[in-house]
Amino acid sequence: MLAVSARFCSRCGARVVPEEPDEILVSTGRRLRISSDALSVRELMAVVEAGVYHWQQRLSDAGVDREQAAAAIGELSRILQSLSAQLAQGRETMRITARLPAQREYTRACPFCGRGNRANARFCISCGASLVEGAAASQPPVRPPRLRLTIAARTDVGRTRTNNEDSYFRGEFAIGADAFATLLIVADGMGGAQAGEVASQLAIATIKQELTGLLAERDLADDADWQAVLREAMIAANRAVFEHARRNKNRQGMGTTLTMALIHNDRLHLAHVGDSRAYLINAQGVSEGGAVWSLLTSDHTLVARLVDIGQLTPDQARVHPQRNILYRSLGTDPQTEVDTASHPIERGDHLLLCSDGLDTHVADEELARIVLEYPQVDRTCQALVDLANERGGRDNITVLIARVE
Ligand code: CA
Repeated sequence: MLAVSARFCSRCGARVVPEEPDEILVSTGRRLRISSDALSVRELMAVVEAGVYHWQQRLSDAGVDREQAAAAIGELSRILQSLSAQLAQGRETMRITARLPAQREYTRACPFCGRGNRANARFCISCGASLVEGAAASQPPVRPPRLRLTIAARTDVGRTRTNNEDSYFRGEFAIGADAFATLLIVADGMGGAQAGEVASQLAIATIKQELTGLLAERDLADDADWQAVLREAMIAANRAVFEHARRNKNRQGMGTTLTMALIHNDRLHLAHVGDSRAYLINAQGVSEGGAVWSLLTSDHTLVARLVDIGQLTPDQARVHPQRNILYRSLGTDPQTEVDTASHPIERGDHLLLCSDGLDTHVADEELARIVLEYPQVDRTCQALVDLANERGGRDNITVLIARVE
């Protein structure tokens, strides 16, 4: 028998969980299915149509640049035409040719507990057993060392906005009598006329309140339990923001992105909606091939899906005028779907959460290099905010870093 959360067989190392297609809800209530190598053309059309609808709504706002909105609608219409031509030819799926996030992989199964580890891991992150070939098979697992976190955060209005709609949180929650978990959140609000600040602050306040109850009363045995708790808190936050907007006429359309990490012992549990990001950075490498950084979240944006099918490169997506069109956010629809994941963490890891005001101006490789350059995380946060501002500071900038010691 294998543990419910096992991804690999503990006897032969074979994958025991089939790769299921990722299904996401788009704002029109329809679903977009993404298998590991293809996107449904019909469902991609629904996302593009949602983008057209977004710009049509914005055209009716006073103060929006009408030329920009018209150009955006024109470009999306061309993409729609190309997609309907593909459908007419009988094509149902489009191949994913490039991925926006460099997903972190755990290809090395532990022979004792079945948990996946980094390709270059020498000991299992979960049970401490040796993963080095030829090591005695009966070697007893040892407990992993206790990990300590050093945390810093900065938020900044940027150079072009008049108010800061981003919010963040860092704090600890009691888990039972003698343990605690560290919670980190970045939320990027939207909606204009102060509605964005209200949305991001209300979402964070709701999550803190929900987690206080859930973490105290639940029995958290494995990753699936932790992820369920985070998902419930996120769904409560979605409801709170949606209800607030419904009751306040001047705040209609308010919403927020939200990326949160809950760290307990040597496990990191993530929940994510929108286009804020979580990166993992380690000078010793975080993935196969020894890459020092990995993006742990997928952007729920139209341009990210266009990268998937090779219509844009990741660099074009980063500066694309429509990069802000979200098809999933908190508070804009009565329901939302939440991405969740769990990862092992180890000494030397830096977990970085940020709003898009940072990654618009700083590419992934450069961001990782700066994180590894500074000995103190508060100086790293300041350096990243300064760099985004030097390059224009087009949006609010929030960065939060936790270093594992
Ligand atoms: Ca933003």
